[in-house]
Amino acid sequence: MENHETPVTVIGLGLMGQALAGAFLKAGHPTTVWNRTTSKAEKLVAEGAQLAPTVADALAASSLTIICLTDYQAVRDLLGTSDIELNSTTLINLTSGDSAQAREAAQWAEQRGAHYLDGAIMAIPSAIGTAEAVILHSGPQSDFEAHSSTLEALGTITYLGADHGLASLYDMAGLAMMWSILNAWLQGTAMLRTAGVDATTFAPFAQQIATGVAEWLPGYAEQIDSGSFPAEVSALETDARAMAHLIEQSEALGVNAELPKLIKAMADRSIAAGHGAEQYPVLIQEFSKSSSN
Ligand code: NAP
Repeated sequence: MENHETPVTVIGLGLMGQALAGAFLKAGHPTTVWNRTTSKAEKLVAEGAQLAPTVADALAASSLTIICLTDYQAVRDLLGTSDIELNSTTLINLTSGDSAQAREAAQWAEQRGAHYLDGAIMAIPSAIGTAEAVILHSGPQSDFEAHSSTLEALGTITYLGADHGLASLYDMAGLAMMWSILNAWLQGTAMLRTAGVDATTFAPFAQQIATGVAEWLPGYAEQIDSGSFPAEVSALETDARAMAHLIEQSEALGVNAELPKLIKAMADRSIAAGHGAEQYPVLIQEFSKSSSN
């Protein structure tokens, strides 16, 4: 079991890396840091961090290293040189990327003898070190458990499973949620502004709708998981008629109708395939198809 005296290394001191290292220092961990641009370590060194002269020294200083760079290519460029020893290090890569990159990085690091966990940070730098900062991890459970008490210095630490790609996939799924909610709100705001209703006035109503819809998710998820979509609330063809109204209303007001048209096109395909009398989550079948052919 690790404690507050467990040494940690942080490689990459951009906005996020500085916050990560700062949180470890604040929690009392002896913290070694390295960054390509050395000056970014100054504040952390003043707070008690050790600046390693080389990446290899940084890795050797602790059995646990967190790396957080711009992208996976940067990680590969930095750690891929022959003088870097990863043998028996635990490397936790909190760099953002996709699931294929995470799985490839895991394979590469494990071939070089490292224990590798991938991660995704669902927070901004100022939240790091607070419960608000959700940090997702995936990879071997034993590696996660060996270091979870140290990682707790960073925020709310979540383990998702052995597949290294899961943290990135959850990250992307979170982005899908975030943009869909924001875009729907912008659509509504654009329509209401034509009637002189400003965004601030609409925002509390929009929040109420978003919260209400969020409450449907567990029940709808059960339908998706069971593959059965009885229309308990409304049928997809009823929803499709409402989508047509939304498109007509948007066009009549002179606001952009691309988003509702996109969703209506998916609903129409599902209805054409015979699912009009089923409930909205049946659209998972459309979302699960590739759009590239
Ligand atoms: P940043 O401020 O731009 O820092 C990028 C870091 O990567 C710097 O330390 C930079 O070193 C280093 N780097 C880039 N290419 C390198 C290379 N070839 N060799 C060595 N070091 C290299 O970015 P950030 O905000 O810290 O973000 C870092 C990661 O966290 C990204 O993947 C980002 O998506 C993720 N993230 C960020 C946030 C956020 O709000 N900032 C939130 C969630 C996730 P130099 O200082 O020498 O340039």
